[in-house]
Amino acid sequence: AEYSRNSPVVVIGLGRFGTSLALELVARGTEVLAIDNRPKVVQSLAGSLTHVVTADSTDMEALTQLGVPDFFLAVVAIGGDLEASILTASLLVELEISNIWAKAVSRQHARILEQLGVHHVVQPEHDMGERVAHLVTGRMLDYIEVDENFALVKTRPPKDLVGIPLGECRLRSKYGVTVVAVKSQGEEFTYATADTVLMYGDVIVVSGTIEKVERFAELN
Ligand code: ADP
Repeated sequence: AEYSRNSPVVVIGLGRFGTSLALELVARGTEVLAIDNRPKVVQSLAGSLTHVVTADSTDMEALTQLGVPDFFLAVVAIGGDLEASILTASLLVELEISNIWAKAVSRQHARILEQLGVHHVVQPEHDMGERVAHLVTGRMLDYIEVDENFALVKTRPPKDLVGIPLGECRLRSKYGVTVVAVKSQGEEFTYATADTVLMYGDVIVVSGTIEKVERFAELN
């Protein structure tokens, strides 16, 4: 079988991260097998997750009994217990799960997981810390880095841009940014075109290099 958008996912470790992940997957219509070794945690989630079981994910036999070898997608959401995280990840690699994701709590942890053969390593605390640093010091409503030196910023239009079609604002030569989307008061976000006229009170999404988008966001 091929794996698809709706393939079932095994989520191991139901701390704050694993729980949010499992609940969001279920909300999006994905089947989830959730595993944690703390019976209390499992009990408290039994009402909101259909398949949630108490098991030690560092035990190959337990994983096999639960049918984990048949999954195409697995997420190791164990953070604090490095040994458990690493052992679990190595078992999933041994089982040749096609798509293994794991959460790392440090650069070193991430390195080990990558060396083991985990396909995608995420560092949510680290990434969120960096992101908040930009938000705290800047005047942006939101900030997402999409690459080392490229970001999307949610901000308000500077007054120079209000009332003039975007096509006439010479945004790229003047500011080095692109307005990607616009949200007028009481409406939803929609893509921006050359004919879009920004108004006071609008919220916009702008893309460009980190330096350029941050400078642009200072103008409003
Ligand atoms: P968060 O920071 O997202 O809250 P934690 O690292 O605190 O993440 O939570 C990890 C979860 O993983 C805990 O609920 C813990 O009980 C579970 N866990 C730890 N070791 C194992 C293991 N060997 N088998 C199954 N679950 C485990």
